Amino acid sequence: MFRNFKMVSKVVFGRGCFSQLGDILEGQRSGKNAVMVFLMDDVFESGPLKDRLPMKAEDLLIWVNVDDEPKTKYVDQLTTQVKKYMVAKHDHLPSGVIGIGGGSTMDLAKAVALMLTNEGSSADYQGWDLIKNPAVYHCAVPTLSGTGAEVSRTTVLTGPEKKLGLNSDHTVFDQIVLDPEMIADAPNPQRFYTGMDCYIHCVESLTGTYLNSFSQAYGEKSIELCREVFLTDTPDADDKLMMASYCGGMSIAYSQVGICHALSYGLAFVLGLHHGIGNSVVFDYLEDYYPEGVREFRKMMERQGIDLPRNLVSGLTDDQMDTMINVALVLEPLWENALGKDWKTIMTRDKIRELYLKM
Ligand code: NAD
Ligand code: ZN
Repeated sequence: MFRNFKMVSKVVFGRGCFSQLGDILEGQRSGKNAVMVFLMDDVFESGPLKDRLPMKAEDLLIWVNVDDEPKTKYVDQLTTQVKKYMVAKHDHLPSGVIGIGGGSTMDLAKAVALMLTNEGSSADYQGWDLIKNPAVYHCAVPTLSGTGAEVSRTTVLTGPEKKLGLNSDHTVFDQIVLDPEMIADAPNPQRFYTGMDCYIHCVESLTGTYLNSFSQAYGEKSIELCREVFLTDTPDADDKLMMASYCGGMSIAYSQVGICHALSYGLAFVLGLHHGIGNSVVFDYLEDYYPEGVREFRKMMERQGIDLPRNLVSGLTDDQMDTMINVALVLEPLWENALGKDWKTIMTRDKIRELYLKM
């Protein structure tokens, strides 16, 4: 069976295009109060960006905190907050949800848009195609580039039992606003770590057994842009990084990620390590599997003056180590993409433990 995947319906790209957001949303406003809900990363609470939000009187702005990566519990809480606001306005659903921030905030926006129209807890929908009803209109404005969350059909959530996305066609954004000025002030090392998420998407896609011409076309373009951004003094680095993220996301949409992502999910679940930094920590130990990619990654680190955190795993209990290995092993398609159909004979629990113990 070939994947028949949904893509983002509308894309606007270019420096300054954020100022068109008001006009874009105007066409989506409907219903009694035509409420738009803005979920904005609270890192912008003190800056000038909030004054540029195209908010109308009845709109709701929620500052979201992403010190921890999105949890199902937080999504449920935000959804309840929006529902209560709508009840207070004697209205039903908002006209849309707009996420402004990095991958975490974009994922929160996707998840809240889905949970406004699907009953129960978001934890009930962690998996593939479990979402029953279409989401309300949802739009993203990335302020960090690399995750590809702006184009993917998932929102990655940590639930009571697992870290797994709500994967569905309904998850995909209706609109994305790609304004390179939005990522201009993202500080290092965060900009680097999120950028490396993109670079690693490309390496894992391009070396995987699931590779096909669709994924290759996007993956090669994306990795070329990553090289320009992180290994040269290119003009328009923000524009290029934004497009690298987009293309990297498109590449894995039709293939899969690999070993680094599988191991990094384990680190995130047990240590709470964020995705970009977790991937970077893991990737540095995968020279046996991705020799060229890891060598180039180290050059990028050096050029960008990045020092990776070390010795993260030494204090863990046996139980925690087992959990980490379990979380990594659940991600079977990632292992199969990286190592082929017989991956279970290559990547044993002991082998995974050995890799984790280096980190
Ligand atoms: P993030 O959204 O977690 O943000 C990281 C930090 O950077 C936060 O402290 C945030 O407040 C801050 N930040 C964001 N934009 C900023 C800016 N312009 N200036 C200054 N600070 C800024 O980081 P991320 O790497 O973009 O996203 C990681 C998240 O994305 C994880 O939760 C991961 O699970 C998710 N993810 C999702 C997908 C998907 O397809 N849905 C894919 C990969 C990763
Ligand atoms: Zn990733």
